[in-house]
Amino acid sequence: MSCIFCKIVKGEIPSKKVYENNNIVAFYDVNPQAPIHILVIPKEHIESVDAINEDNCALVAEIFKKIPEIAEHAGIRGGYRVVSNVGENACQSVHHLHFHILGGEKLSDKMA
Ligand code: 5GP
Ligand code: ZN
Repeated sequence: MSCIFCKIVKGEIPSKKVYENNNIVAFYDVNPQAPIHILVIPKEHIESVDAINEDNCALVAEIFKKIPEIAEHAGIRGGYRVVSNVGENACQSVHHLHFHILGGEKLSDKMA
């Protein structure tokens, strides 16, 4: 099974990584929707938030524990938004669990 983000994890597709450990990786989004737009993913292939379960939820906790550090390191100040699109109605385009970190400016007060 090799989705685009699994390929990024394996280094088969280049990415601008900002953080990596044994379980998770963070890299800049190729098509940024804010001045700073980072994606944080588990290395393990999980389809989406819908596929989070008892067995893999520790990875999600690890991601959220790291997000403030990643945001700070990337130079985000004054706040940021964390988003995960789930399924067709949310326009999820990559079916490997990821959390968008959006920041670097005052974001819209509308989320959708
Ligand atoms: P989604 O639409 O599934 O919530 O978000 C997928 C995100 O992945 C999009 O913001 C898109 O720009 C980003 N993306 C898709 N392919 C690549 C890639 O090859 N490299 C990087 N860095 N980002 C990608
Ligand atoms: Zn994957």
